[in-house]
Amino acid sequence: MSKIVVKKIKKSKTIIEIKYTVSDELKEFFNLDNYFKVDYYEDVTKVPDSIAVIPFISNVLPIIWLTDSELVIDELDEAYAKSINKTRKAFNDMYETNIFKGKVTINKTITNKPLKRKENTSVFCSGGVDSTLSLVKCLKKNQKPLLITIWGTDVWDHNTEGWSSLNEYATSLGKKLKLKNLFVKTNFRKFIYEHVLTEKLLKAKINDSWWRGIQHGIGLLGHVAPIAYLHNIKEHYIPATLNKKNLGATCGSFPTIDESVKFIDCKIKHSGYEYTRLEKVENIVKYFKKEKVNLRVCFMDKGAKLNCCNCEKCYLTIMELISVGANPRDYGFDITDEEIAKIPAYLKAKASDSPINIEIWDAIIEKCYKNRDYIMSNPNYKWILKYRNQRNIISYLLWRSRL
Ligand SMILES: [Zn+2]
Repeated sequence: MSKIVVKKIKKSKTIIEIKYTVSDELKEFFNLDNYFKVDYYEDVTKVPDSIAVIPFISNVLPIIWLTDSELVIDELDEAYAKSINKTRKAFNDMYETNIFKGKVTINKTITNKPLKRKENTSVFCSGGVDSTLSLVKCLKKNQKPLLITIWGTDVWDHNTEGWSSLNEYATSLGKKLKLKNLFVKTNFRKFIYEHVLTEKLLKAKINDSWWRGIQHGIGLLGHVAPIAYLHNIKEHYIPATLNKKNLGATCGSFPTIDESVKFIDCKIKHSGYEYTRLEKVENIVKYFKKEKVNLRVCFMDKGAKLNCCNCEKCYLTIMELISVGANPRDYGFDITDEEIAKIPAYLKAKASDSPINIEIWDAIIEKCYKNRDYIMSNPNYKWILKYRNQRNIISYLLWRSRL
């Protein structure tokens, strides 16, 4: 049986570094010049090894499972150790398969108690629609969640400019809502070779990328364990990627998978699965009616702007906001009404006709139709209603562009 053996957990001030050995058969999946390393920007020296190792474990477990290998660890948090098989089962169920196998050997499980008494909630904060809706759900429960922003996810760990913009965004959101920010820098997408994992372990069995199909739920969640220990987090919210209407769609982040994960006495809440994207926007607008907050939906090169306002992600969010009667300029979109009138020209040239995008645009058109008095009152918004009786806006525009 191939093996991954954890050899050393090094904690130096704010950084956790893991050293491990990997059997020859597994070496093609790992960048062994770049060992797993996380910076928490706060002192982590008090975090016990049985918790400090979880961010690493949560990112190698799927490799162990899909290669039917063995993971060897000296000490592991008891709650997390118990959750591992439930998560493995949730993956097998998600993909209706039995290919998630493997073995985890733990020398000693440890029952941990959080460092602080005062209990906390936390939520991942990236500024997108999914993440902001999770935040709204926490705030509605009168919780004051810690905002956890991770560098190394959508913004690569070498992209310092992208990070300073995300960091600035999260900090100002924290200030505005009087919430504490926590930042994490991780190489969790670089210590492995995602493309090799996708190609060799997924392609024949699961038609998805390593990131989307496997890593982005549990891999991210593992990073919360040391924070949960330091700040006594009882519940952590992870924003839903899919929603209950996406029947049959598969994804590595899903209620059954994410909520199987537990560490110390912290539970995971997969948040917002009951809402479509448009319903999320509607809830965000309703909640922040008085004190507007900026959204940050776009990862294109934005210069000084928060959102580029020149890509499909920006355009669909702008039209979602308009469809629910909101002004996109109040939510971080620096765009004029005249520019909004030109959106169809952009879609004609560049729109993506993926089923998810088509569904999103269809929902926008229907919502605009419901709010047609408001939409018709602005000559720059009227164009959207023209597409209501077409098959859908994207295929209509693509068809038109081919004429
Ligand atoms: Zn954009």
